[in-house]
Amino acid sequence: MIFELRKEARDLLNRVKDFMEKEIFPNEQTYSNQVEEGGRWCVPPVLEELKTKAKEAKLWNLFLPESEYGAGLTNLEYAHLAEQMGRSGIASEVFNCSAPDTGNMEVLVRYGSEAQKDEWLRPLLNGEIRSAFGMTEPGVASSDATNMAATAVLDGDEYVINGEKWWTSGAGDPRCKIIIFMCVTDQDPDAPRHKRHSMILVPTDTKGIETRKMMHVFGYDDAPHGHAHLKFDNVRVPKSNMLLGEGRGFEIAQGRLGPGRIHHCMRAIGLGERALELMCKRGLSRVAFGKPIAHLGGNVDVIANSRIELNMARLLTLQAAHMMDTVGNKVAASEIAQIKVIVPNIVCDIVDRAIQMHGGAGVSQVFPLAKMYAGMRTLRLADGPDEVHRRAIARYELGKYSINASGEVESSEVSRS
Ligand SMILES: Cc1cc2nc3c(=O)[nH]c(=O)nc-3n(C[C@H](O)[C@H](O)[C@H](O)COP(=O)(O)OP(=O)(O)OC[C@H]3O[C@@H](n4cnc5c(N)ncnc54)[C@H](O)[C@@H]3O)c2cc1C
Repeated sequence: MIFELRKEARDLLNRVKDFMEKEIFPNEQTYSNQVEEGGRWCVPPVLEELKTKAKEAKLWNLFLPESEYGAGLTNLEYAHLAEQMGRSGIASEVFNCSAPDTGNMEVLVRYGSEAQKDEWLRPLLNGEIRSAFGMTEPGVASSDATNMAATAVLDGDEYVINGEKWWTSGAGDPRCKIIIFMCVTDQDPDAPRHKRHSMILVPTDTKGIETRKMMHVFGYDDAPHGHAHLKFDNVRVPKSNMLLGEGRGFEIAQGRLGPGRIHHCMRAIGLGERALELMCKRGLSRVAFGKPIAHLGGNVDVIANSRIELNMARLLTLQAAHMMDTVGNKVAASEIAQIKVIVPNIVCDIVDRAIQMHGGAGVSQVFPLAKMYAGMRTLRLADGPDEVHRRAIARYELGKYSINASGEVESSEVSRS
């Protein structure tokens, strides 16, 4: 397997790297200052300025493989770009490539009606509005998505929506205008488990939506993006806001999550690279017991292992992306689950080691490591906890064997679909 990039993709990658150096890194502090000055739940002006520059430089909507709307990159090619963007917490949005908008735009491209595309996809592609995805609920164990209990009931030409969602990321942003809301539409508990739920477009200004609170991650509010706990009380939306059709929510969810996991993992690797860079710079520049910290105790091993693990994580992720491009998301399901487990775990460990090498400064606001750790630790839960993905991987492995009539184990044909 050779991960060769086409010339167009290599050029884009170099231009993204260049933009990161010239525009993104120098403006990170300005962004943080503007969020503070604006009362946190604001749109920092520097972000909109950077978006305009990225758009002008044609570094815009680089995701969306196989689509007339994107940059025409494969998953594998885009993965390299996502890694670069992951090096800074503000970069993805500047290129209009940030979650959950990317996944939501993919849903609209693949499953939206022409009217839905016109109303919601167009402004999302232009970066005029932002969006959220509401699946997880406070009242049920949402790692089993079939537990989801919020309802939408048809009443004339409208659906009436009731329930609560939390961890609805992005809903704190004043530009967030639309939520892709997953809920039960078939009230019969005996109906097939994966055919009871649907996805509906819910505009955020609809009457009956209440923000109960903004969730914190280890004390971070992640403003101005944020993660909202929302209550939906008799929220009415037009019948035409249904995506694809009643009972097709899980079908859409499957299509949505594959590319998103590659993006998350490659961004995580970019973040891991930045943590390793900080670890090396601090380790070389600070002296204790007469030596640079990097050369004390087992610290060279810590640095070496971090490099080895990051490279392993990248190769596995590129392999999953390559499989998505060549054999499709369904066949690549085990590989996609594998990266979703291993990459956040590896990067979390690397950030933890970088924190250790920084001493007290590592957990402070002086370096970005504490926030990076919070983000990476979260990724072991968001989009499904590790255990759920391990379960899927093990199920596939065990499926290679069966017990015959004599009680012996034999190999069986394994279906990847
Ligand atoms: C910062 C952040 C952002 C998020 N953004 C969004 C978002 O935008 N939209 C959205 O809908 N959701 C979002 N989530 C929610 C996230 O997807 C859920 O938290 C996750 O799916 C787990 O659901 P739960 O919290 O209900 O955990 P539960 O279902 O209560 O599970 C708790 C624990 O049970 C264990 N467990 C579950 N299944 C198994 C198993 N099969 N084997 C062994 N152990 C198991 C796991 O350890 C798991 O962590 C976000 C979460 C965070 C923290």
